[in-house]
Amino acid sequence: MNKQSIYQKLAADAVSYEELRRVPVTPCKETLVKIPQTPNLYSKQFGDDMLPITGNVVYVRQNAARRLVTASKLLATQDPRLSLQVVYGYRALSIQQRLYRKFETELSGQFSSTELREAVHRLIASPDVAGHPTGGAVDIQILRDDQPLDFGTKIWDFAPDSFTYSPFVSQLATSNRLMLRDVMMRAGFAPFDGEWWHFSYGDKEWAYYYNLPGAIYDQIEFSR
Ligand SMILES: [Zn+2]
Repeated sequence: MNKQSIYQKLAADAVSYEELRRVPVTPCKETLVKIPQTPNLYSKQFGDDMLPITGNVVYVRQNAARRLVTASKLLATQDPRLSLQVVYGYRALSIQQRLYRKFETELSGQFSSTELREAVHRLIASPDVAGHPTGGAVDIQILRDDQPLDFGTKIWDFAPDSFTYSPFVSQLATSNRLMLRDVMMRAGFAPFDGEWWHFSYGDKEWAYYYNLPGAIYDQIEFSR
């Protein structure tokens, strides 16, 4: 198989919009909180789209925040110089909708209406099933002495090499991806193998990944 067909297979393995749409949600009452800062857990907002809403602070739901602390402690037991850096958490639904519409406009004309939904969803999660607007999803990497480990791509490099199981990155990069995946999953997060940095707790993707009866986080508005 050539590189393109391997990446097509990895993309086809990803959960579809239709599969996520069918996952029921029974919303819990957890609020959005700032991610705790500890010697092994930092957060630093990447991008500027959330600045008018949350400033430079990354928010997630309460239980997701607790589980990030757990993941950082698991990481520190392997090597105390390692820390988790969260670069994105909660995203306002209006921003997700704007991004979705932008890609929808770019791709319209290339697909039928049902195909278009799935095609856009592969590039940017459809707002009604997306994890970031629930406050359950995070984009995260591992630092050693404040420098990112080698993950084969930079975080937020939206290229096929960012598939967690890309065979076209070095062994070191793969083992670093798997170390991140391991501590996050042991803390209860579900991985998204289309982006090595994206994990979620409580959202539809999490419920689907672990075959649970439903999600516990729905799309939420930000309030302080
Ligand atoms: Zn993400």
